[in-house]
Amino acid sequence: MCGEFYDGRPFIEEVEICHEPEQPPYRPPSEAHSVLVRVTRGCAWNRCSFCGMYKRLRFEIRKPDDIERDLLSLRAFYPKARSIFLADSDSLTHPKLPTVVESIRRIFPEAERITSYARLTTLRRLKPGRLRALREAGLTRIHAGLESGSEPILLRVRKGVRPEQAIEGGRRAIEAGFELSLYVLSGLGGEDCWEDHATESARVVRETWPHFLRLRSLVLLPGTPLSDEQQAGTFRPASPLTRLREIRLLTEHLSHQKTSRDLAPSSHQASSRRRAGACHGEDCPPALREGEMRDDEIRNDEIGDGEIRGGEIRNDEIRGGEISEIEIASDHFSNMVWADREIIYGGINGFLPADRQMLLRILDAAIEKAKTGQRVIDPGTIALRGKQFSLYGPAL
Ligand code: SF4
Repeated sequence: MCGEFYDGRPFIEEVEICHEPEQPPYRPPSEAHSVLVRVTRGCAWNRCSFCGMYKRLRFEIRKPDDIERDLLSLRAFYPKARSIFLADSDSLTHPKLPTVVESIRRIFPEAERITSYARLTTLRRLKPGRLRALREAGLTRIHAGLESGSEPILLRVRKGVRPEQAIEGGRRAIEAGFELSLYVLSGLGGEDCWEDHATESARVVRETWPHFLRLRSLVLLPGTPLSDEQQAGTFRPASPLTRLREIRLLTEHLSHQKTSRDLAPSSHQASSRRRAGACHGEDCPPALREGEMRDDEIRNDEIGDGEIRGGEIRNDEIRGGEISEIEIASDHFSNMVWADREIIYGGINGFLPADRQMLLRILDAAIEKAKTGQRVIDPGTIALRGKQFSLYGPAL
């Protein structure tokens, strides 16, 4: 096949179609139809206690020449590609990424979308000029894991970013012209901190106002530190019913309010913060306390020009003054909940704030079924029991 033609048209003659491009182990579900291009390997941070994605991989920056070789081969395999996804976990750490993106534009001129995972702390750390250069080179969308907006929870799971830093990182990306897709991990507060997890995540989402909010549900993977905490009894996983209540509370708090940071917390927020005292005070398990992670581990020493500061701009100003919507998607099997062998909840999908009431009704119906169901389970629960699960239903 080497040097052959594709699609009836002559291809770049020196292309080695038989070269097998390196493929990343993970991509977001929304990138299922994208060509996957690996620009780095592994995760430079690799410390989040719930994550097992790249634990066995050493972080590496791939050489631009090797990436280009992959691109030429991928072009032969996918001549009609319209969407390209860059992996692994934080491609924006690649020092030559603008050049790589330009190569992608040259080799895939029809591509309408080039997207990448990025850590919010990386988005915050990069200079605005660098982000704009990446956008101008042709990178269009960023997928970033917020996981939680609660500071104690972020510290506990060693996410390496604080809520205000996450807001700043997200806003910097939007300011540079990217579409931002934020991920929240339901269940990350466990049974004890679900309210704090929901209300604080909603606050961070409101203040960032991304284009997409994607929901995932925590699945405790054996061998991860959070799974060890569960085994030791220091982390109580949230039940399926609690997870549904948590998503409901999150959705309830996702109004399009302006300057939410400057508004006094609603009475519900204030009381939920009081109720969630276990997340803020003396009752915290040791790992929850501040100081578990040193500030220098959060790498806040390389801040850019600081054009945007959290709380200084209204969220309707973030996207050029337009009142824009957030698309909320539960595009992952981990969102599913079963009761008595029936799927009672498959996630919520719609636009915020317009669809909020409809989404709340879906959640209310699922909560009622979860209250009365005999055997209510979700993928996280099944994983906890050490059983296998599939996309289509629990292995009972
Ligand atoms: S969640 Fe993301 S940042 Fe954290 S270790 Fe996993 S890949 Fe790295």
